[in-house]
Amino acid sequence: MTDKVVISKPKLISHSQMSKFENCPRDWHYNYVEKLSTFKGKALFFGNKVHSMLETRLDKTDNKVYTVEDFQYDKQSPEAAYKKATKLTDAGMSALHGLDELAFPGVESLGPENIEWEFEVLNMYRGFIDLWFINTRGEHIIVDWKTTSSKYSKHDIKTSPQLTAYAWAYKLTHGVMPTAVCFITLNKISHKASLYMGTRTKDDIDEYQDRVYKNYEKILLKEHTRKESGCNGPYGRCQFYGKCWGDIDPVIRESQDVMPLDSKKTVTVNDKDWF
Ligand code: SF4
Repeated sequence: MTDKVVISKPKLISHSQMSKFENCPRDWHYNYVEKLSTFKGKALFFGNKVHSMLETRLDKTDNKVYTVEDFQYDKQSPEAAYKKATKLTDAGMSALHGLDELAFPGVESLGPENIEWEFEVLNMYRGFIDLWFINTRGEHIIVDWKTTSSKYSKHDIKTSPQLTAYAWAYKLTHGVMPTAVCFITLNKISHKASLYMGTRTKDDIDEYQDRVYKNYEKILLKEHTRKESGCNGPYGRCQFYGKCWGDIDPVIRESQDVMPLDSKKTVTVNDKDWF
């Protein structure tokens, strides 16, 4: 006889959570269940500010004006950061108008619903799209801002799972496939914006949906096993490197392990166990 299994409903996952989980379930657990990750670098703050400035420029109902004071997190040079963010915002707006190629005269009339649009789909996945709109030709366009110091390639846009996720969520919520998915990259060094456009097919989004289902199920089953190797990524060690691989008493380490759910076991998962 199989014992009763009680599992409370986990919350919604996002694309970045899912990528983290795929890379290392243990890392995901540390970040989203134990909430051990507190790192928020200066670069991230800056990127967020640039995005907010762009949103404000697009959303005519938002009268906020950004000033140097908004950049006080940068203790050394708030003025320089503010100047740079303003330049990048200007460049981003020009790149957006570059979409005129696609008959896109309506940028001035975008409403708040088009900007930083939050979605929840299938009761398991959430996210937001920086910008979407339907142009005068009836084409559905999705835009994602990227504040970066490296170059993107055509390949990046073709294979970006993030853009696939947006196309998938858009199709689920609007009932149509977006005509184009775009990155507008804002280069922090050259202050230039570049526009990259791509498309997604039905197969792309079906594949992504399978991926979501699979990962969500694994999260539900608490398969938070650690990686066996590859904890040194291209940008250095995983921030939990010591905790996972250091001289931790094996007994303690074992007690931290979350075993995969066995259908013969009784498992009760409480809300507090989730992120
Ligand atoms: S140290 Fe390795 S196993 Fe541990 S969380 Fe980081 S990537 Fe995962």
